[in-house]
Amino acid sequence: MINDEILEQVIKLIQSSNFIVAVTGAGVSAESGVPTFRGKDGLWKQYDATQLATPHAFKKNPKLVWEWYSWRINLIREAKPNPAHICLSKLESNGLLRTIITQNVDNLHQRAGSKNVLELHGNIFRVKCTSCNYKAKIEKAPDQIPPLCPKCNSLLRPDVVWFGEFLDVEILHNAYSLASKADLMLVIGSSLLVSPAAELPNITLKHGGKVIEINLDETYLSPVATISIRTKAGEFFKALCEKLKL
Ligand code: NAD
Ligand code: ZN
Repeated sequence: MINDEILEQVIKLIQSSNFIVAVTGAGVSAESGVPTFRGKDGLWKQYDATQLATPHAFKKNPKLVWEWYSWRINLIREAKPNPAHICLSKLESNGLLRTIITQNVDNLHQRAGSKNVLELHGNIFRVKCTSCNYKAKIEKAPDQIPPLCPKCNSLLRPDVVWFGEFLDVEILHNAYSLASKADLMLVIGSSLLVSPAAELPNITLKHGGKVIEINLDETYLSPVATISIRTKAGEFFKALCEKLKL
């Protein structure tokens, strides 16, 4: 159940802000059936997702990493945007939300209709070559595992940022700049354990902006956020958009 008083407070903050940015993590897609990395949901066979999404794992066993990605690609393809993705898209089209900065690679914000989406960690529906500059969009898991580059025959990899890899400098710069301009940031379904995404709410707070957190569990942000809400993202945004008549 969403507390009506808190919902009113959130709406007041939304209506009195001029530059609202959302930061989303795996939790925003959990109700669409896309597993998060942490917790028991993060397991595939007996493997820990945080150990598979690494350059080391790919080097050691590209076939295993690609099998895991193929499973995820097919699962995400079948998933549908949930009320959180949909409400965020409506907030944008109604001029209330500037941009979503997402750590997700699942494309669900775009499929819900969001236009301004900054993908910090890439997109699972793209591949890139490990040797040359070849990049391509994909719609389903590759037929041959591991897939090879059509230009140079080297291994292709998912065009995502793995643990231990650097983010694209320009994307990161944009994210920092948005966080410093935001007078309100909505932080949704992120454990905030992965840097540099985890620093974004701190940048907003440091510049005098307000931060609302929506997460099932507490994070480092919970005690310092302007409002911290322990609810499922889909349920919260369904109630929010209903109340806003969007
Ligand atoms: P995470 O798995 O570390 O944390 C998920 C967070 O969501 C947790 O804090 C959990 O309490 C919360 N949560 C779970 N269900 C929720 C719900 N229904 N409503 C609200 N909150 C909920 O995810 P992260 O912080 O995004 O970081 C993990 C990394 O893994 C990211 O870099 C991301 O790229 C990647 N990842 C992406 C996807 C995706 O694209 N859907 C899925 C898994 C992991
Ligand atoms: Zn190549």
